[in-house]
Amino acid sequence: MGNERVYNFSAGPSMLPLEVLERAGSEITNYQGSGMSVMEMSHRSKVFQKIFDDTQAKFRKLMNVPEGYKVLFLQGGASTQFSMAPLNLIGKTGKADYAVTGNFSNIAYKEAKKYGEINLAASSADKNHTYIPTQDQLKLDPEASYFYYCANNTIYGTEWQYVPETNGVPIVCDMSSDILSRPVDVSKYGIIFAGAQKNMAPAGLTVVIIKEELAGNELPYTPLMMNYKTMIDKDSMYNTPPCWCIYMLGLVLDWLESKGGIPGMEAIKHAKAQMLYDVIDNSKLFTCAVEPGSRSDMNVVFRTGNDELDAQFVKESVEAGFTNLKGHRSVGGMRASIYNAMPTEGVEKLCDFIKAFEKNH
Ligand SMILES: *Cc1c(COP(=O)(O)O)cnc(C)c1O
Repeated sequence: MGNERVYNFSAGPSMLPLEVLERAGSEITNYQGSGMSVMEMSHRSKVFQKIFDDTQAKFRKLMNVPEGYKVLFLQGGASTQFSMAPLNLIGKTGKADYAVTGNFSNIAYKEAKKYGEINLAASSADKNHTYIPTQDQLKLDPEASYFYYCANNTIYGTEWQYVPETNGVPIVCDMSSDILSRPVDVSKYGIIFAGAQKNMAPAGLTVVIIKEELAGNELPYTPLMMNYKTMIDKDSMYNTPPCWCIYMLGLVLDWLESKGGIPGMEAIKHAKAQMLYDVIDNSKLFTCAVEPGSRSDMNVVFRTGNDELDAQFVKESVEAGFTNLKGHRSVGGMRASIYNAMPTEGVEKLCDFIKAFEKNH
């Protein structure tokens, strides 16, 4: 530690690309001759409006967002969307379908129950969320106003490998921890949302992609600031948007473009995850409880089966220059979050460390 940057395996907020931090640093007191920091600018200024428009355009291009969809830059974190989605969408039939595959979808499910009749379309709680339900296991209600799921379960280390077929029922998806890591066919979704702090930008920004025709049917008591229509009509600037985070997202998107865009990133991130799963699967000491076919490329969970040895692993990993490898308090063990900004080298070094630890214990 000290002057060295560490390999930070935090689940979020998490690493940002070094190039991005350096560029932000070089512009921090005087953004491109404006005489001020992006942090100090009026959100209505021409300079900021250009940052905003460019970032939105870059995001649309990289994610291939089709016509008829809006990209919103909001606040309140991904968790605010747990309320905002039902408030705006459930009015259609009063019912919605939820798949609960982990902590965050469970919170969203419980929150939605305040606003309508919620059908538990699937749950992986029977096996402690170590798998993703198959299409056949989804009990879908054709009258649901929407179907909700979480694409990547940050705590349990599982990831949906398919987009559910809902026969026309709009899909609402929490992509907080795997957005920008793999190609997404946006046209299959009604709403995609993601908190920025895992794979996009610093905490404080929530990106929402919404099919425009879904907005405008909110429940009558929907708070002004939680109405998608308010934000669509004012292009996310009804009030002050998270200016600095939007600027940072723009820098991250430039970096992503330089890595081959999302297809380029998909190859890189998949190779990183595979390397780690191979080491764990070939180990006699470490195991990954997640079923192959449901494993996340973003959050790799593993353990020794002995809590003391897990604690020893975490302790030694810190001494070796890695941080935040301790698993979430609700599941224990270890978790390596390897989002886009984690360099391949960091994963290679972690693999070497895991092998050496096994040899020594
Ligand atoms: C981190 C996370 C959240 C919570 O995000 P906040 O921005 O802190 O509200 C929700 N869903 C998923 C999948 C996450 O990883």
